[in-house]
Amino acid sequence: MKIGVVKESIANEKRVAIVPESVKRLIAKGFEVIVEKDAGKAANYLDKEYQDMGASIANSFSDTASKSDILLKVRHVNSQEADQLKDGSYLISFQDPVNQKDNVSKFEKKKINSFALEFIPRSSLAQSMDVLSSTGTIAGYKAVMIAANAQQKLFPMMMTAAGTIPPAKVLILGAGVAGLQAIATARKLGAVVEAFDTRPAVKEEVESLGGKFLEMPLEEDAQDDQGYAKEMSAEFIKKEMELIEKHIAKSDICISTAQVFGKKAPVLVKEYMVQKMRPGSVIVDLAAEQGGNCELSKPGETVDYNGVLIIGPQNIPSMMAEHASKMFSKNLENLLFHIVKDNQIDLNSEDEIIQRPLITKNGETVSQLLKDILNK
Ligand code: NAD
Repeated sequence: MKIGVVKESIANEKRVAIVPESVKRLIAKGFEVIVEKDAGKAANYLDKEYQDMGASIANSFSDTASKSDILLKVRHVNSQEADQLKDGSYLISFQDPVNQKDNVSKFEKKKINSFALEFIPRSSLAQSMDVLSSTGTIAGYKAVMIAANAQQKLFPMMMTAAGTIPPAKVLILGAGVAGLQAIATARKLGAVVEAFDTRPAVKEEVESLGGKFLEMPLEEDAQDDQGYAKEMSAEFIKKEMELIEKHIAKSDICISTAQVFGKKAPVLVKEYMVQKMRPGSVIVDLAAEQGGNCELSKPGETVDYNGVLIIGPQNIPSMMAEHASKMFSKNLENLLFHIVKDNQIDLNSEDEIIQRPLITKNGETVSQLLKDILNK
């Protein structure tokens, strides 16, 4: 089977779907790999490195797409690229299918079998293919770096001849993949860390990383039967905000990562809470693009509210393109090795790892998950 790797077309997207070291392993498993010229350049992977691993270089998107059975990309294709896909081929990438409805219609017409990577199940079996876990890991790490850089204070406790500096106090909201990585990173830098998540199951993980898990009585079930976080009631969020209000006022840094899949991010930090924070404090709102956990955050901007900085970073993985691409590439490799058997993908297989991300198949939209999200 021929795999095509194309250059990203979305502005400021520096990642590449496959890095040279993966090419070697893919070829060893019987795939042929075609890489669009300069596809990896922005992430520091050069054409020569791909060629050395056995890939061939194609001149353009259309050249790569026309030669490939499976096209791999990080972000969704643009309209022009969607028109250039080879009829009946496979496309594997983030698809943002809720917002890119025109693409989905084009895939139906061209009988593209498209897999949306954001829909990969977040199960133990699929963990090595879960690109959202990789991006969350990178975002959690970098959020702490962004906060540390924006602050005028030190992170670790320091006992010096010029006196003792107390450790930074960090509050993490949401202890999923990004939140846990933020806890680990802030602890490594010497901060004192508190965290809250609606899923009590993560208490142990927070504590094993050296964080303190904030507790509140949970009368509602916070996760569904598959372990996914559930949207909480307005009454719950009100009580949660009372808890956050007490702790955020004493924090130097708040990193918010609270999110329920497919929903707008819950607003947990209101203006009156930010008013209680000391000038110089920093909020990094990782959910800014999903509406924000802080009502003052703006995606892609830093808001200065009476000296408190509220930062809403966008596309952190692209800021860390070299390693983000390496992780993405390994996730894709694992996915390809899982779904391609005897040179074929069995689209009728009952395997959840095939069915959940499959958006369009043989000219039809088949994703129940997508239909459910669009109908809500
Ligand atoms: P995740 O699903 O692993 O974690 C989200 C966590 O939020 C879950 O543990 C969930 O239980 C918790 N949660 C849900 N509602 C809550 C509430 N009301 N209060 C407290 N916790 C609550 O997701 P993730 O991979 O860790 O990503 C977290 C956020 O970071 C998402 O919004 C994601 O889009 C964003 N993100 C941003 C970037 C970026 O570049 N800006 C990159 C990656 C991820």
